Amino acid sequence: MRKKELLFMPPLYATDEMAAEAVQDTGWTEDITYKGWSGQACSYTRRCRRYIRYFMAAEGNGLLKVAVFTGDSLRAGDRRPVYEVYLDRGKREYLTLETASGKWREAKINFLKYQGADWTYTQEEWQTQETRDLVNRYFATGKNLNVFQAVLDFQAEREELLRKKKYRTETDRIDAVMKEVPGIPEGFGEWVEKNCFRETMFYEPKKRGPVMERMYCTGCGEWMEQPGWPDGPVHRAETVCPRCGTYATYRSWNRQKQVREKTDVALLQRMADGSGYVLRLFRALRERKHSDGWETCRVELDETNRAVLGGTFLESGRYEYGEYRHTGVYRWCLYARKNSYGYYYYDSWPSWAVMYTPNLKEELRERKFWYMDLETVFKGGSRQRVDPVAILRMLDRYPILEYLQKCGFAELVREITEGKADHGLFDMDATDIRKALGLDGQRVARLKQWNGGCSVLRALQVEARTGGKLSGDNIRYIMSGKVQMKDIEAAMERTGLSLRRMLNYFSRQQERNGLTFLQTRSLYSDYLDMAQERGMDLKDDIVRRQPEMKKYHDRYLEEKNRKEACARDREVNLRFRNIREDRETSAEHFGFSQGKYVFLVPAQASDITMEGRLLHHCVGATDTYLENMDRRRSYIIFLRRKEEPDSPYYTIEAKWDGTVLQWYSAYDRRPDEEEIRKVLEKWSREVGKRYRKQKREQADSAVETEPGRACAAVVA
Ligand SMILES: [Zn+2]
Repeated sequence: MRKKELLFMPPLYATDEMAAEAVQDTGWTEDITYKGWSGQACSYTRRCRRYIRYFMAAEGNGLLKVAVFTGDSLRAGDRRPVYEVYLDRGKREYLTLETASGKWREAKINFLKYQGADWTYTQEEWQTQETRDLVNRYFATGKNLNVFQAVLDFQAEREELLRKKKYRTETDRIDAVMKEVPGIPEGFGEWVEKNCFRETMFYEPKKRGPVMERMYCTGCGEWMEQPGWPDGPVHRAETVCPRCGTYATYRSWNRQKQVREKTDVALLQRMADGSGYVLRLFRALRERKHSDGWETCRVELDETNRAVLGGTFLESGRYEYGEYRHTGVYRWCLYARKNSYGYYYYDSWPSWAVMYTPNLKEELRERKFWYMDLETVFKGGSRQRVDPVAILRMLDRYPILEYLQKCGFAELVREITEGKADHGLFDMDATDIRKALGLDGQRVARLKQWNGGCSVLRALQVEARTGGKLSGDNIRYIMSGKVQMKDIEAAMERTGLSLRRMLNYFSRQQERNGLTFLQTRSLYSDYLDMAQERGMDLKDDIVRRQPEMKKYHDRYLEEKNRKEACARDREVNLRFRNIREDRETSAEHFGFSQGKYVFLVPAQASDITMEGRLLHHCVGATDTYLENMDRRRSYIIFLRRKEEPDSPYYTIEAKWDGTVLQWYSAYDRRPDEEEIRKVLEKWSREVGKRYRKQKREQADSAVETEPGRACAAVVA
């Protein structure tokens, strides 16, 4: 658009009709009430006019000129437009002249500034029907849009076009890569249907009589008889199909309308241009409906992500299928960890999926590891998810895996490819099995014979280093599961025991005490700690191979606790000295004897902590009650039987005025509750009497202090 040419178009000035309309539009006010964000009522007054904008239009030289006036400008007597918008339908261009300043604007009509638009409310645009017809005809809208909307639609469309042009390079680049992705292998859908989902065993409801009911396995698609009682089917219980051996969930034939199973499936293919590989990730859904019969299903496969992998299986690009940059176009996009608001969110890349294995040998035939049993490595057909890229990288990085699998170290290969192996145990770059495992030929043979995993390998390495031959029982014990070789080694280091003896000791202790390996480990390690603290020699057999380890552990622990109790007693006696200082006054105030019972006052703070330990309640465990008594806010009194005044019975918390706050015996229980309650009531009355007497004497001597101190003064 050439600006000079635009200015030669004949000017459009406001008509008399238009100006008269603006002058008549004097406006009105409206009171608006609304609810604020915290629910409070808010209100404001809104100035309203019928029109803000007035439009005229003219066509010439294939261009459209739209003149925009505002109510304010017309009422001020100005007949010139505020803006002149020039539009070229053919070239899809537009440009706006701000008449007052003579400046050119590129903004769309809705982003231009209009005087009065910020405080006035309006719903209508002023224009004649002729103007409207002209504009709609010019843009060929086929509708009767108002001028503002017709211009805006044209401008918005043009903006969209520009944006597409801008992103064109990026989409072209993505498309170039996507073009090299080969077609989906034949039979992929059927394979997914049969090998990826959790299976169901649908069983027929029980009928009366001796008829054997049947059940249907979705794994093998076979009908079979239900097992009899007590192994019969239970709705939603787990089972294994006796025909195909697949794990399945029992579902009663009529208990649900539909069953939907979801999973993720990964497909690895070579890129058509030979540049590397593509890992395609599908979201898979399998649906069965009661109305269609459980034997039939429908499978849906949605390809959501693609990772392009280079020669060493490192990712060179990540793609996802979705809306491209808010354009409304759905296509392959670069994967971005951003949500639609532009904030980064959690990485939703589906790295774990059920791997499609039938094509792997063919796709990986240029790789050294192509003749490995890839189906086993990727768990093909097991319905289990794996991390395909991690496994591929591992296979590529460590050629030794291939030998390990070929030689029958299945458990080791499984642990390594599942990322569960301790890599410190291997020399993965070695080309020789013995070097790789750090074992001599004989031990390699033993590891293979046992199909041992990393823990057995570690044990054999320790054996090679420290001597002493592992027994079959030792290896069985290690393979039984939870044995952690690093804990065994740590214990060996402390005790100087050989591997064999250490393992024997652990397995015997585990059995003897009925504990798990981890419990035994903690117990033994605590036992050794305490023995060491007591100055014992951990390398002495009587200590390190103590058959009664648990008994000694418990004994040492009790003594240790006792020592800690002594320390606590010393500490509270120092911190809460008032308890000891007040003991005579307190004893005089609370001391009482009735029938079989006697009320005693603690002579010092440690008497209270001791009472708490013996009665197993919380009176001495925290500082609360001690501090209250020290500050003379509440008091702890012991109720005991006269014949056994030294053994605790009830512990009472009371106020100086005799109010009982709480009273409990061992373990916070209340033996002889009714009897004790009566004794307490009588005692409380007596203490109350003593308290009121003190108050009277206190008033007489006109000494104003808090009750505790007052009484101390009185008694002294
Ligand atoms: Zn089956």
